Amino acid sequence: MSKKVYSGISVGSRTDTGEIREHNEDSLLVKDPLFVIADGMGGHAAGEVASELAVKAFEKAEIDSLDINTLKRAVAEANIAILRGAQAGLGRMGMGTTLTAAVIEKDSVLVAQVGDSRAYIMQNGELRQVTRDHSLVEELLSSGQITEEEAVNHPNRSVITRALGIDNNIQADTYELRLHDGDRMLLCSDGLNTMLDDEEIESVLLKNPDPQAAADALVEAAKVAGGFDNITVIVININSVDAQSEAKRKRRFIRNIVAFVLVFVLLISAAIGGIYLYAQNSAFLIAENDRVVVYRGLPGDFMGLKFRWIEKTTDISVTQLSETVAGNLKNGIEVGTLDNANKIITDYENQIKKTTR
Ligand code: MN
Repeated sequence: MSKKVYSGISVGSRTDTGEIREHNEDSLLVKDPLFVIADGMGGHAAGEVASELAVKAFEKAEIDSLDINTLKRAVAEANIAILRGAQAGLGRMGMGTTLTAAVIEKDSVLVAQVGDSRAYIMQNGELRQVTRDHSLVEELLSSGQITEEEAVNHPNRSVITRALGIDNNIQADTYELRLHDGDRMLLCSDGLNTMLDDEEIESVLLKNPDPQAAADALVEAAKVAGGFDNITVIVININSVDAQSEAKRKRRFIRNIVAFVLVFVLLISAAIGGIYLYAQNSAFLIAENDRVVVYRGLPGDFMGLKFRWIEKTTDISVTQLSETVAGNLKNGIEVGTLDNANKIITDYENQIKKTTR
C-alpha cells in the first residue's frame, strides 16, 4: 500500500496476515473520502470472502459526502451482499465481517461501525477510541461483570455481538466528529489493538508523523508483540483545507517579499547608476584645509555613498576670498561642469590679483 496525498488528507495503510494465521481475512478500502476496514470470519477462508464483499459494496456505494443515510444504506447493501454471497455459494453460510467505515468531508468525519474493528482519533498528541466494540468483552466490561485487566486476557475476547452477514437486520453505530488541522485518525482491525494497548499505539503514532510510516510501524509492532491475528490499519492525517490555504497564503507572502526586495534592489541600483552618471558630468568647489579644491562629482552623501573624485587642489586660500564665497565653499558650491569650475577658479585668481595689486 503506498501513501497517497489527497486534498487536505494524507493516508497510509497496510494489511498483514500476522505471525500465526494462514489467511488474511481482513480487507480494506482507501477511496478518498471513504476509508473502510472489514475483519472477516467464518473459517476456511470464508472470512476473506465476507470482508471483501463488504468492502466491494462500499466501493460501489459512491459515498462522497457526509450523509448518514447514504452510509447506512451502504452498510445494509454490504450486509445483503454477504448474505446473498453465502446463498450463492461464495465462502460459507454463516460467514460474516466487522465493518468500520469513515467518511471525511472538510472538517468533519462520519464513522459507521459494526463489530470490533475500531476507529481512533488523535488530537494534540492524545489518542482516543471513537467507536465502541460490539463484543462480548465490551458488554461484560460496561456492565461491570469483568475488570479492564480481565478483559485484556478474556478467553472470549474475539467474540463479537454484531457482524455483517448474520441476518437481514443490521444496525450500525454511527459517530460524527469535528476534525482540526493536525488531527489523525486510525482505523484498525482487532489484530492491532489486541496486540498493542492504546498507549503503545499512541506512542507508535507519535514517533511516526508520516501516515504510511505510522501504518507500517503499527503493523510491525503488532507482529513483534505476537501477531496472533490479521492486522490491518489505515492512518489518516488531517491537514484541513484551511491549513492548506494558510500554507498557500504564506507562500504567496514570501513570494511577494522576494519580488519586493528584487524590485527595491533594482531601483536602488538604477538610482545609484543614475547618480553615478550625473556625478561623472558634474563638478563642485569646496574648501578643504583652507584651500579651494576642485572635485568632479557631487558634494554630500547618497545613502552613505560618495560620488566625487578630486580633480585638483588649488593654491587659493579661502581667506583670500570674500566672506560670502568662503562661507559657501564650506559646504561646497556646485558649478555644473569641470569647465565652469576652471573658469571660476580663474575668476578667483583674478579677484585676488586685483585686491593684492
Ligand atoms: Mn481480527
